[in-house]
Amino acid sequence: MPADAPSRSHSRKSIRAVAAPRELMPEAPELAGVWTAQVITLLPQAFPGVLGESLTGRALRDRVWQLQVTDLRRFGEGRHRNVDDTPAGGGAGMVLRADVLGRAIEHVRTGVPPSVPLVATSPRGRRFDQALARDWAARPGVTLICGRFEGIDQRALDHYGIEEVSLGDFVLTGGEIAAQAMLDATVRLLPGVLGNAASLEEESFSDGLLEHPQYTRPAEWMGRRIPDVLLSGNHAEIARWRRAEAERLTRARRPDLSEGDQAHAGDEG
Ligand code: SAH
Repeated sequence: MPADAPSRSHSRKSIRAVAAPRELMPEAPELAGVWTAQVITLLPQAFPGVLGESLTGRALRDRVWQLQVTDLRRFGEGRHRNVDDTPAGGGAGMVLRADVLGRAIEHVRTGVPPSVPLVATSPRGRRFDQALARDWAARPGVTLICGRFEGIDQRALDHYGIEEVSLGDFVLTGGEIAAQAMLDATVRLLPGVLGNAASLEEESFSDGLLEHPQYTRPAEWMGRRIPDVLLSGNHAEIARWRRAEAERLTRARRPDLSEGDQAHAGDEG
């Protein structure tokens, strides 16, 4: 029923061209079994954005994952495809309409397994973290709704059981940057995205610790030398030093992180 909404697109500005090559962002998922990010946004031209660069971009071109971007405007009301209205009860700004968002959600979620999380980016949400990135990476994909203006009509959040997820304790003008950050953190965990899988095991948060300091050539710079142990060739000593540095840094900077917490968070979901 809502699938006919996009075809009623008589108005001039109803469908905006996306900037990225079309084959990178198929209208419908082309490859079943390929990890798929669905994004609902008023700024489709902002995608793939930085996700089209470097390792995530190469993986996108290699079909390690796929990106399906849906322009919320297509589901807008009337000749002007309105998507928002003034807040009930008064106040500043505009609120995204539940009916408009509902049509977009039903369109993109058709045929999508319920194990694919339905998420709205929101400063009110659960804080995004490495454990959530791991959870999403282990699923067939994720559907991300990018808010704008004052946010989304509460009834849409309630009706579809949308999970709100925050990038951090600050307010962005829209969800697109948050969505790209969350997708970057998730996609790099998919098999085949990073060249060197071993680097995943040692980096920050993977074992509840921040990463040890890193050095590379030259051996001396501005009177500062690389710690001798790293040049010693003694791998056991190097591993011990890195572990100790990781623990020292974590205690100093993030006493809230503990191995137990992280291991537990990683087991959820
Ligand atoms: N009035 C809202 C903020 C709206 S900001 C409030 O006070 O909670 C507009 C949109 O930007 C939001 O709907 C959300 O999609 C996005 N956004 C803003 N800050 C964000 C954050 N920290 N994390 C994720 N998304 C955010």
